[in-house]
Amino acid sequence: METVKEEITITAQITRFVREDILNLVPYMPSNEPCKIKLDANESPYDVPLEIKERIWKRLMDEHFNYYYDPTCDEVRENLSKYTGAKFDQIFVGSGGDEVIYDIIMAFAGPGRDVIIPFPTFSSYEIFSTIAGSNVIKVPLLKKQEKGKCFWDIPIDDIKQHFTKDKPQLMFLCHPNNPTGDYFDDDKLEDLIRNFNGIVAIDEAYFEFGGKTFADSISKYPNTIVIRTFSKIFSLAGLRVGYAIGHEDAIAQLFKVKMPYNVSLFSQIAAVEMLRQTDWLKKVQQEFIKERERLQNGLEKIDGVTVYPSSANFFLCELKKPKDVVYEELLKKGILTRRFGDDVLKDCLRFCIGTPEQNDLLLASLKEIMSSK
Ligand code: PMP
Repeated sequence: METVKEEITITAQITRFVREDILNLVPYMPSNEPCKIKLDANESPYDVPLEIKERIWKRLMDEHFNYYYDPTCDEVRENLSKYTGAKFDQIFVGSGGDEVIYDIIMAFAGPGRDVIIPFPTFSSYEIFSTIAGSNVIKVPLLKKQEKGKCFWDIPIDDIKQHFTKDKPQLMFLCHPNNPTGDYFDDDKLEDLIRNFNGIVAIDEAYFEFGGKTFADSISKYPNTIVIRTFSKIFSLAGLRVGYAIGHEDAIAQLFKVKMPYNVSLFSQIAAVEMLRQTDWLKKVQQEFIKERERLQNGLEKIDGVTVYPSSANFFLCELKKPKDVVYEELLKKGILTRRFGDDVLKDCLRFCIGTPEQNDLLLASLKEIMSSK
């Protein structure tokens, strides 16, 4: 009895010490439910081939594990410079796209500053901004239907109102947007970038699946920073490598706020090796694009499923049945998908593109679940 009372007192004390804004923060806890087919986190279903892994091991065996490795990731940046066409000084490497997002917020937002986030979008922008003590301004996207097709539009007039009202220093645009799946209209995005008196962080985590980029526009719009990752097409989600492309003066600020040795030796070597695998990457890319079309056609034929267009490696679907029922039924069949707590996505599930066999199983399972009483 005494220990229970003691524990309650300690908990009460600790909560008293926590920052108020952190007390109410919900931690980012991705599902770790056991499953046969993992389609919840937009990863690649294709692991790095064994011969490429062996090449990475071989290089690792020659390295010293006892010394700190390159704090500025120069070899990765040299290779990224060739891959992206950006200059060496215009590239910053972080421990996943997540850390790049965090560092952008640390450098350009921080305590008391306003961050604009069109919503729904990738949750890290809001979570990290809150941790940094910034004020988050969420502007709802518009759900539209034209010529029988559903899509999500970006409300540029609503966003622009905040440019003058709140004086934000940072705005996130996810390109293509996660979880809705597609790009927003190019002209509308350019309109926002041109008129924003602050940094525009353009998240291109899914660049390789859709091909559009603002990385070529950093000289025209030096207030843009493009975010990319090795977690998707490069199959390195477990190794945590992401990068930013921006004007050298913007990139220089990120080096000031980053953790000293933020990207491990293993991750840097693997990233360099993956950038050399152009043939493998092309093959994987073509497979994704073929499967995306096939999956979309299949989903469109299932009664009670509305599929939003995608330029990424995942689909957002709106369901006529309760999403929790569909989620649980899919999980019983071994398929893990993603559901969201947000009201605007209350009828939606998101799942990423798997191997052709996994996609067949998803389509068959979803069809069965949606047609059952
Ligand atoms: N941006 C977007 C839009 C994402 O969806 C993700 C991960 N799903 C990330 C950034 C972060 O990716 P990572 O930290 O694995 O590089």
